[in-house]
Amino acid sequence: MGQKTVTFKLATDFSEEDLHLKIKRELHLTDFNFHLSNKSLDARNKSNIHWLVNVVVISDELKETEFLETERLQIPFRKHTKKVVVVGNGPAGFFSAYALQLAGYETVMIERGSEVGKRDLAIEKFESGHGFNPMNNYAFGEGGAGTFSDGKLTSRSKHISAERRFILESYIKAGAPSEIAYLAHPHLGTDNLKLIVKKLRDLFIAAGGQMHFETMLEDVQLKSNPIQVKTSKGNLDCDALFIAPGHSAFETYRMLMRNGVPFRTKNFALGSRMEHSQELINLAQWGRKSLSGVKAAEYRLTSEADGKHSVYSFCMCPGGVVVPATAYPNQNIVNGMSHYQRDGRFANAACVAGISPDILAGRKVSPNEALDEIEKLETMFFDLTRNYAAPACSIADFISGKSRITSLSSSYPLGLSVAPLWEYLPTEVTKSMRAGLIDFKNKMHGFDNGILLGLESKTSSSIQVIREKTWETTGFGNLYIVGEGSGYAGGIISSAADGLKAALSFIHKSF
Ligand SMILES: Cc1cc2nc3c(=O)[nH]c(=O)nc-3n(C[C@H](O)[C@H](O)[C@H](O)COP(=O)(O)OP(=O)(O)OC[C@H]3O[C@@H](n4cnc5c(N)ncnc54)[C@H](O)[C@@H]3O)c2cc1C
Repeated sequence: MGQKTVTFKLATDFSEEDLHLKIKRELHLTDFNFHLSNKSLDARNKSNIHWLVNVVVISDELKETEFLETERLQIPFRKHTKKVVVVGNGPAGFFSAYALQLAGYETVMIERGSEVGKRDLAIEKFESGHGFNPMNNYAFGEGGAGTFSDGKLTSRSKHISAERRFILESYIKAGAPSEIAYLAHPHLGTDNLKLIVKKLRDLFIAAGGQMHFETMLEDVQLKSNPIQVKTSKGNLDCDALFIAPGHSAFETYRMLMRNGVPFRTKNFALGSRMEHSQELINLAQWGRKSLSGVKAAEYRLTSEADGKHSVYSFCMCPGGVVVPATAYPNQNIVNGMSHYQRDGRFANAACVAGISPDILAGRKVSPNEALDEIEKLETMFFDLTRNYAAPACSIADFISGKSRITSLSSSYPLGLSVAPLWEYLPTEVTKSMRAGLIDFKNKMHGFDNGILLGLESKTSSSIQVIREKTWETTGFGNLYIVGEGSGYAGGIISSAADGLKAALSFIHKSF
């Protein structure tokens, strides 16, 4: 039995039969099995857009065998008496808790929000104008910020190949399409994610883990032994505490700061969400309105035109919708999500400028003050409409600084209110975004026909916990702050990998 990996150029709408025939002809084989190991769209030449597909072919007729297996994550098992509490059921919290449970610890996971079904209803209610729920929204609830998202599973993090494999295999075990194992730009869509997070919970519980929803971490006694955890449902003791609060839990960061946990400020990004018709993006990227076999065109743009702060598109959601993503009442921010089919009429992405909290505040600020500055901005964006409608303008108007276009169409569920966004964003951000948007317009035909809406303040964290190479918080053994809320990760895969790495570091320390 031999194995070989070959790369083929295939039409965008190729079928499994086409691929079978191609292998048969090109490798002169009669009896073989195959599976895809990579599939990426090559759209550099608009008149010859095709898939580049890597196929692993296995056959008795092949003499050689290549082993392309990536490293597997090893989770050593031993029955431990130590108890670990994990706070937050987002990707970072879930994967650290799952690994700890598989390693034999008594693992209790707590989550301030509800299970995904109840969370879904709360979001539906909010979007139909029937009240915001501070416990269940786009940030809080089962699966964390990753549930109601596009579910892009790409990450630029390095040295996480074994973790990535474990995460993707766990998602597939929980019902994700197996293509995520080989697609260059895999994504799940919120419809799949809602089912997946529930099945992941079942896997954790089947392994012996305990899951408590609607249970909020309120305070901690970090220096006591065991660590005492005060929750909204009573107290818990544990030998190690993992906190994966995500990017929105400002009161949790402040509680940790009050308890002496060291944080520092870091550069982060601010801006708005851009939205275009998906057809416009397809035309710009592919030179045609649709492409058989491919869902919707994507883009990723960066610009250094401002010479001061880089401007870039982020979290692009082809065929998606812009969503009201605030975690708190009377604040207003936006984000984007999509369904697996990515078949909506619009394409959206954040357009943000990298900035430091000191520049935002106009003075040197502490981590707590950095949070205050962001909150002020989010509250100001709420005060502009007072009903979670999104202030919005056309990209052309943002560039020119003049309000001309008053009719804007969007997927945003709570309505738009036409406003000069360039006056409401911090001056430095407006200047950089303007230079960046001019650059984007020159790179992509029709780009200035899109709109900008709302405030994007949570693409990255403005603060970072100070921690050791072992993932332990400096000065606090057995306290692990992980995922996006730690300030070291961002996105589903990198946050989940951060949680896994911290869990493995703890497991190896106490094995
Ligand atoms: C709308 C949207 C779309 C996105 N799309 C993508 C995408 O396509 N691809 C991608 O890679 N990333 C995407 N992201 C970002 C991604 O979701 C996050 O980077 C990722 O979820 C971070 O994982 P985490 O586990 O660190 O934190 P989170 O997922 O934010 O989870 C934190 C959890 O902790 C809980 N929590 C917080 N404080 C407490 C407390 N005191 N007590 C108990 N529980 C608490 C919260 O309720 C939450 O469930 C998107 C984000 C949003 C909001």
